[in-house]
Amino acid sequence: HAQTLKEILRRIDGRGYKAYKELQGAYTFDNFTLFIDHVQGDPFAQPSRLRVRVERPASGFDSSFTRSPSRTVALCDYLTRRFSQTARRLTKGVRGTGKGGLILIDAPAQEILPRTSMKVTDDYVEARFFLGLPAVGRRIAGRDATEMLLSELPAIASEAIFFKENQRSALTTHVETCEDADALRNQLAALNRVAFVADGAQLPRASGIDPRPLTKGAVPFTSPESLRVDIDLPNQGKISGMGIPEGVTLIVGGGFHGKSTLLNALELGVYNHIPGDGRERVITRSDALKIRAADGRSITGTDISPFINDLPFGRPTRAFNTENASGSTSQAAGICEGIEAGARLLLLDEDTSATNFMIRDEKMQKLVSSENEPITPFIDRVKELHTAHGVSTILVMGGSGDYFATADHVIQMADYTPKDVTEKAHTIAKEHANGRVVEIAGPLEPVTHRTPLPNCIPMEERRGRVKINTYGLHEIVLGKTRITFDDVEQLVEPSQTRALAEAVHMAAPLMDGSRTLDDILKKVMATIEMNGLESLSDILRGDLAGFRKLELAAVINRARTLKTRT
Ligand code: ADP
Ligand code: MG
Repeated sequence: HAQTLKEILRRIDGRGYKAYKELQGAYTFDNFTLFIDHVQGDPFAQPSRLRVRVERPASGFDSSFTRSPSRTVALCDYLTRRFSQTARRLTKGVRGTGKGGLILIDAPAQEILPRTSMKVTDDYVEARFFLGLPAVGRRIAGRDATEMLLSELPAIASEAIFFKENQRSALTTHVETCEDADALRNQLAALNRVAFVADGAQLPRASGIDPRPLTKGAVPFTSPESLRVDIDLPNQGKISGMGIPEGVTLIVGGGFHGKSTLLNALELGVYNHIPGDGRERVITRSDALKIRAADGRSITGTDISPFINDLPFGRPTRAFNTENASGSTSQAAGICEGIEAGARLLLLDEDTSATNFMIRDEKMQKLVSSENEPITPFIDRVKELHTAHGVSTILVMGGSGDYFATADHVIQMADYTPKDVTEKAHTIAKEHANGRVVEIAGPLEPVTHRTPLPNCIPMEERRGRVKINTYGLHEIVLGKTRITFDDVEQLVEPSQTRALAEAVHMAAPLMDGSRTLDDILKKVMATIEMNGLESLSDILRGDLAGFRKLELAAVINRARTLKTRT
């Protein structure tokens, strides 16, 4: 009971920090239950892990908020944000030593993601959060702890896990926006489109490091008539926008006219966005993969032969290994590995591509004969990727017109507004046909699947556990294995990275030489699908967020210890 908690705190006040361990357990409050799952070892350690839970009927959230999986995800996302805001408003913040005084929940960015920070079932609503137990020096500050646990926390709980009439409209919008986004994504295939950008969408961001919408002077999106499609959404009703067709789409335009901004929005269109983001109805099929050059990365056993052949000294490219990729080989590997893991839409930007991978023009073909050039440039494979493998491409390219002939659609960004210039581009391609020759080394073959060998992500255990750490968005450490993946651009929250680290930990023992990488990825994703994200970790933690199979593949592919056979 809450009274017990009060008594313990009074008793251990002023004692050494370790005495806080006594708090572990469950306490019944007037209208919710508090679980103190894990007490931190000292005031500087990661804050303690706690949960508050209320029975579903008492929470006041009726079944309309959880009618579909996308509604439930949105409800949990909304409540996490509400908890976070309320905690900031209703607590005094840091008190005493270290992280004492803080009440923290996972902090979502602009995306609505599946999260372990909040769980809503038919039986209960539960928030999982962190609390820094306060100390003076290393002595327990019992009075502060009492204030946090018995007054601040119940106030936060009453705002964040109970339905309040004043949140009805914001919550309903949140849930309906998310449900519409999923419905939209589900309709793309039937419309033969790979992406959709609604009229009125606001694509530019506040700054290069601030993903919130640009507030001043943003030009709202308007679709060119020829690419306009109408879509009927369950909540919003009919909307219109630009539907980018399957196949090869080129985005051209002068510098600073909004090409990369459009592509970035499409990259993150695999996720749903919060109301007010401006990209709520910018939707990309969920198997879209951003590809960029990443020289210096390692590549293990990847079949890059569709793009790279006859390397110096006969180095094989059907199972290519390097500790130090070049720009072009890294980009080839990214594509081949992506397709191996199920990517069906590639997104490329000239800003982050290796020029020699993208194009090889007439003059260069004349000077350096194709026998001396191992690269089959992307331009000569892009169409075939679609016809033979069903892999579409959206490509930003302002610097070369060589792609005009191969592109099914050409969109020009001018003053942040798209125009369909397909016909004009095709005419120019015909009238100015040059002596450039297509350089295909042979037809595209079926995707090669690699089988990881045992022990290729070695994880040293200490006291029966593997120490798992993550740093920012792009680095994980499992035991002594460090994996960095700065070039994986479709990650938006450190919580995704934490979940990816747990997923690699789960995948590693499945790498026993009997399963393909794709089978392993499928197995891990199926476990998450069945048992939830929280099943990734052996402790109950509220700081994991959803990721895609493609990101898990990307992380494993960048492990420098990987060993595979084909
Ligand atoms: P490009 O790739 O064509 O060179 P960018 O997409 O990088 O251009 O955009 C150039 C600048 O214009 C960026 O600062 C971006 O935030 C801004 N911008 C892009 N789209 C819009 C828009 N619709 N309204 C206002 N500013 C925009
Ligand atoms: Mg650009």
